[in-house]
Amino acid sequence: MNQQELSKRLATVGEFVPNGARLADIGSDHAYLPVALVLAKKIDFSIAGEVVIGPFTSAVKQVKKNNLSQNITVRLASGLDAIEQDDDITAITIAGMGGTLIRDILAQGQSKNKLSGKERLILQPNVGEKTLRSWLMAESYEIIAERILEENQKIYEIIVAEKSPNTMTYTNEQLMFGPFLSKEKNPTFKKKWQRELNQRNHVLQQLSLAETVPSGKIEQLETERKLIEEMLA
Ligand code: SAM
Repeated sequence: MNQQELSKRLATVGEFVPNGARLADIGSDHAYLPVALVLAKKIDFSIAGEVVIGPFTSAVKQVKKNNLSQNITVRLASGLDAIEQDDDITAITIAGMGGTLIRDILAQGQSKNKLSGKERLILQPNVGEKTLRSWLMAESYEIIAERILEENQKIYEIIVAEKSPNTMTYTNEQLMFGPFLSKEKNPTFKKKWQRELNQRNHVLQQLSLAETVPSGKIEQLETERKLIEEMLA
């Protein structure tokens, strides 16, 4: 296996791992990302953390099959519990989960002093990007790069953040659309938000036919619709 064999999504996550980083890949599943990065000689040390026994076993097998047990340690642990102080981690990847789960993993890890503040965070939430960006802002992480990409009809965002000595302030629009992505507004970004707009229009139409509607729901959807329309204009 080499980096070319990674999905486009995971390969893009890997691009943001600095050369020579000491990586913790949390929710590693088959450990594809650390294995590919070590084989590509981009890194030579990684922890692969998994909380579920099946994916943990797959990760152990994948590491053994590639003779990388000297470079990659697979640990059965929840979130950042997989990290030990001596690991001296400098980059953390968390990919393929919801943004709320990624936020919770980071927040719990932070409360257990698993984050030193020197790690680059490379995060790929499947949904809930705003929730994740809001946590990063509240914890003084600066978003240093973002990517949006499409693979197999799904659109993914990647958020790269580093701890800042400064208080970080992002607008509501930047939290929702991404500070870099909303500036760039590339075709994939427009495609994503057109889909999101269509979805909200559909829900609003359904709600207009409903007898009872949860209070505030329509207002929230209309606010979001307006923001998306302005972003796409
Ligand atoms: N990171 C890989 C990728 O992007 O292709 C795998 C993504 S897979 C959909 C999500 C993985 O995260 C699953 O293997 C799941 O067991 C693991 N996971 C979920 N919650 C976790 C947690 N709190 N700690 C560690 N792993 C977790």
